[in-house]
Amino acid sequence: MTPHSAPVRTKKIGSFYPPQRTLMGPGPSEIHPRVLSAMFRPTIGYLDPVFVQMMEELKDLMRYAFQTRNSVTFPVSGPGSVGMEMCFVNMVTPGDKVIVCRNGVFGGRMIENVERCGGIAVVVEDTWGTPVDLNKVEDAIKANPDARVLAFVHAETSTGVASDAQALAALARKHDLLTIVDTVTSLAGIPVKVDEWGLDAVYSASQKCLSCTPGLAPITFSDRVIEKVRARKERVHSWFMDLNLLLGYWGETNRTYHHTAPTNALYALHESLLLLQEEGLENAFTRHERNHAALRAGLETFGLDFLVEEKYRLPQMNAVYVRAGVDEKEVRHRLLHDYNLEIGAGLGALAGKIWRFGLMGYSCKMENVMLCLCALETVFADMGQEVDFGKAESAAYHAYARTPSQVRPMRVAHA
Ligand SMILES: *Cc1c(COP(=O)(O)O)cnc(C)c1O
Repeated sequence: MTPHSAPVRTKKIGSFYPPQRTLMGPGPSEIHPRVLSAMFRPTIGYLDPVFVQMMEELKDLMRYAFQTRNSVTFPVSGPGSVGMEMCFVNMVTPGDKVIVCRNGVFGGRMIENVERCGGIAVVVEDTWGTPVDLNKVEDAIKANPDARVLAFVHAETSTGVASDAQALAALARKHDLLTIVDTVTSLAGIPVKVDEWGLDAVYSASQKCLSCTPGLAPITFSDRVIEKVRARKERVHSWFMDLNLLLGYWGETNRTYHHTAPTNALYALHESLLLLQEEGLENAFTRHERNHAALRAGLETFGLDFLVEEKYRLPQMNAVYVRAGVDEKEVRHRLLHDYNLEIGAGLGALAGKIWRFGLMGYSCKMENVMLCLCALETVFADMGQEVDFGKAESAAYHAYARTPSQVRPMRVAHA
């Protein structure tokens, strides 16, 4: 077949109507109706004065989420991966040494980024499911005094482990290194204190705990990053992600065309950040903890063990070993087809070994936890497993009863 002979379609194509799913995977998370309805509003020009006003509000709302006063705080047009790449292309020049921590899939991608920028990655390896080891990082810094950047993932979505971003950043500052920090899964799910912890280049994504539509990457850069990028002798290799050029659009004054901003997606991000502010960061964190405790109590009744030691677990990403004797893929398939419920599979070395239950943002609510436990009981029973019906739900209810009730689930306000 030549490249020109694409098969002739015989089926008439109609509009696409996706099913309504319960999303409990590694992202995207479910989207609040107010966020979806924000996207329907009229498209206007990306330099329209009304739009520009909204951009300034968006930057302020992002500063709230990141707990920072950094003036350079804006959403990059692209998924979390573009946020990641944006940090590396601006901060790494050919020949630069970067210390990269790998304890899961996303640390591996950071190494790729360093190498593609012509840098040299000094890799600090940790077992998947464990946090980044501070001692190993300090050893690597001491062994490589010429390294100028430390890169790590705060919340490893592939394993559900949290690393100590505050301590890692303190270590970097002590040795005069700048940090690149992945907060894609942590932001709005657990505390991310950019200023207090002294993080430098920090990126996230719209579709995890922010519960916005996928395709935007909030970033924030400290003044130290800006100085470093301004002092570069070599141009940034990516035109699109060159911070110096992007600031012509997202900066404070003299805005000019850089690329056509995804206006409607930005309305959605504005709305999702507004919801976060209305709820309050602390309440959002408590809500994640509370639903995690209930899900965990339920999952444990099935004999499912967590991959991660208790004190390092992310409430928003629960990785458990697959139940012995069941086909893990079949379980996910049945959950999706019989209950419209999506959960995550294991990645890389953990493929086939774990399930990942996400409780991110708007997906992090009691009805999802209870549906998930009930569906699992039924699926396990259908697959011939012994099940004590109601035990998981009961454990979850008791966990809810033990945690503060002033934290109400995020309200579904009128759109
Ligand atoms: C999802 C994720 C990314 C990538 O984000 P995309 O929007 O899929 O490009 C990066 N890092 C972590 C920790 C993630 O969970």
